[in-house]
Amino acid sequence: MQSSSNWGIIATWRMAYEGISESAQMLAEDQDSTRAALHAVTRVEDYPYYKSVGYGGLPNECGEVELDAAFMNGDTLAVGALAGVKDLANPVLVAEALSRERFNSFMVGEGAREWALRQGFEEKPMLTERAQQHYVKRRRETIDRGLSPYAGHDTVGVIALDQQRKMSVATSTSGLFMKRPGRVGDSPVSGSGFYADSHIGAATATGLGEDLMKGCISYEIVRRMGDGLSAQQAADSAVWDLEQRLLERYGRAGDLSLVCMNNRGEFGVATNIDNFSFSVATATHPSTIYLAWREGKRTHYREADQEWLDAYQDRITAVVS
Ligand code: ASP
Repeated sequence: MQSSSNWGIIATWRMAYEGISESAQMLAEDQDSTRAALHAVTRVEDYPYYKSVGYGGLPNECGEVELDAAFMNGDTLAVGALAGVKDLANPVLVAEALSRERFNSFMVGEGAREWALRQGFEEKPMLTERAQQHYVKRRRETIDRGLSPYAGHDTVGVIALDQQRKMSVATSTSGLFMKRPGRVGDSPVSGSGFYADSHIGAATATGLGEDLMKGCISYEIVRRMGDGLSAQQAADSAVWDLEQRLLERYGRAGDLSLVCMNNRGEFGVATNIDNFSFSVATATHPSTIYLAWREGKRTHYREADQEWLDAYQDRITAVVS
């Protein structure tokens, strides 16, 4: 049984660790959950070695980086999102600004970009040389051999709970590597990639957007927490049920990984892959990176050890050849 806490922050993947650790300090000092969530996500967007989010994100099949991001305020239920945008430094900040708009709060492509630039958000070429090298390599290994180019998943999703019991959630991604131009996944879609209601809790997803959206999975987890399930029960049961429904219909299910937190700072995680990493900190739980896996219907997790962390760092900075 987890102890409850008056603030907390949880994020998909190891890549959010540095950001959530800094944001944890902000929350401990009674800062707002919106600021904390945005801080953690922009930290990931700005780091060039994370190849699935922001600067350094991997391009679509035409070699262009198209970014999706979203923000939701759990007090007001306001949502802001943008999809398929090019060359904006911090899409998540634009999403938060959009959440404050009464109309036109979910925007795509050039219209979203123009609006962001008019608001003074920073323009930045987001394709790095390294991402380009990954692109060339991936084409060589898949498309050139007649194989499917789609692989991997790594959206950053951050949930923050502040001492005023306000919850915020934010996502940012370059989406599925080698996606078709214009393809949009779950990450900017309310209820699928994220959902937050400060009266209950919040959830956020990473994995195959096309499958995550079939279950409106983030909303479903929050709904189950609202029905009285613990965060862990809500996450495990919703992900399991979605996977069964996908298996019944298709005989397969894509990667589905979720984190959630209720408004008492108790968190949950569910995944159908091995070694899904996530990062969490609360007032009663030091900032930690965990690795999650599933046994039967239940997700288990253990703290990432130094060997895993070293191998991770080597992998993300290795020369692309
Ligand atoms: N969920 C994202 C998408 O489908 C991918 C990811 O999590 O990396 O766009």
